[in-house]
Amino acid sequence: MIIKKYLFIILLFFFSASLWAKELGVSYLNSTRKDHLPIVEIEGKNYLNLYDLERIFDGSIKVDQKSQTINCVIFEKKCEFSFFNNWVHFGKHSYNLHNDIQVINGFFYVPEYFLNLCADKFFHDEVTLDDGSVIINFSSMEKYLIKTIVLDPGHGGKDPGAVGRILGLQEKDIVLNITKKVKKLLEKNLDVKVLLTRHDDRFVSLGDRTDFANDNQADIFVSIHCNAAYNTKASGSEVYYLSTAQTHEARAVEAMENEVIKFEDQESISRYTDLDFILYDMRQTEYLNESSELSEMCQKQLVNTLSTKNNGVRQANFYVLRGAFMPAMLVEIAYLSNKYEEKKLLSKDFQEKAAKAIYTSIKQFKDKYDKMN
Ligand SMILES: [Zn+2]
Repeated sequence: MIIKKYLFIILLFFFSASLWAKELGVSYLNSTRKDHLPIVEIEGKNYLNLYDLERIFDGSIKVDQKSQTINCVIFEKKCEFSFFNNWVHFGKHSYNLHNDIQVINGFFYVPEYFLNLCADKFFHDEVTLDDGSVIINFSSMEKYLIKTIVLDPGHGGKDPGAVGRILGLQEKDIVLNITKKVKKLLEKNLDVKVLLTRHDDRFVSLGDRTDFANDNQADIFVSIHCNAAYNTKASGSEVYYLSTAQTHEARAVEAMENEVIKFEDQESISRYTDLDFILYDMRQTEYLNESSELSEMCQKQLVNTLSTKNNGVRQANFYVLRGAFMPAMLVEIAYLSNKYEEKKLLSKDFQEKAAKAIYTSIKQFKDKYDKMN
């Protein structure tokens, strides 16, 4: 798997090197922010990588492999493309791009003409083209701060998650309580929309959890869990973000949290194929820095607020984080398999504190990123 991935990256590198030709400067009105937009020549025609457009506009892209469509949200308006097709749908109209959308190694390329449509028709007030450069009105972007947070209480329904050894507490119940408390704190103190992947004791597939976050254009995704280990002495808090698991312990937790797919049907399982993983992995790497930062903030808060053992921030390859196209973390509050921590997890005070810690880290992250925008 790793060899396959490296080979893929090397091939991509050679391929990309031969594609990069020229670029447009990008500047922002009312801001010192600057960027550039590479122009890629494919079969003699000029193209733009959709992910570059997503970055310069602070937009979001969702790819549906099944229907072969790409939904791109820019300035909160939706543009829809289809693979290998020369039309873009915007509002109630369709516009001819004159050349087909290209899909190469998991990247999507739209004809450069799309920029003209942006400036002339779609985002007249926000985008201007000026001889070799793109000018974006930054004040129109200021509205697009961290506004939507999806909280994901792990497990549910037929999947109880970890089960305490002494009191028989079920992870699904504890994390739902804590998640609801986080939601309350966020809504009370910040100007954000908070959505939960489940509100009661029901089963939600892993794919549906991230689809929900993507469909709602969440700016942050937080999956909330309690840990368990064969070693009944294991204790403490840890926060994960996506990657291939780095340590033996991280791999064990990864295997446990991924176990849930045994409850899922064949169709959902087929989503987690190798190729998908590579594509998802590459997409998610865009948010690795943010995810790692959010995880660090949360880990610090958990350990300080709960006085739990600091197991640190770790990387693991959780299915539930793979499909989330936004900063995302998975929180393991404490160990249900440890009799002392199981008792603590039952207490309302401990649950309140855990919620407060998660809330505070989201607030810190939001404060930092809203200021940068
Ligand atoms: Zn769990």
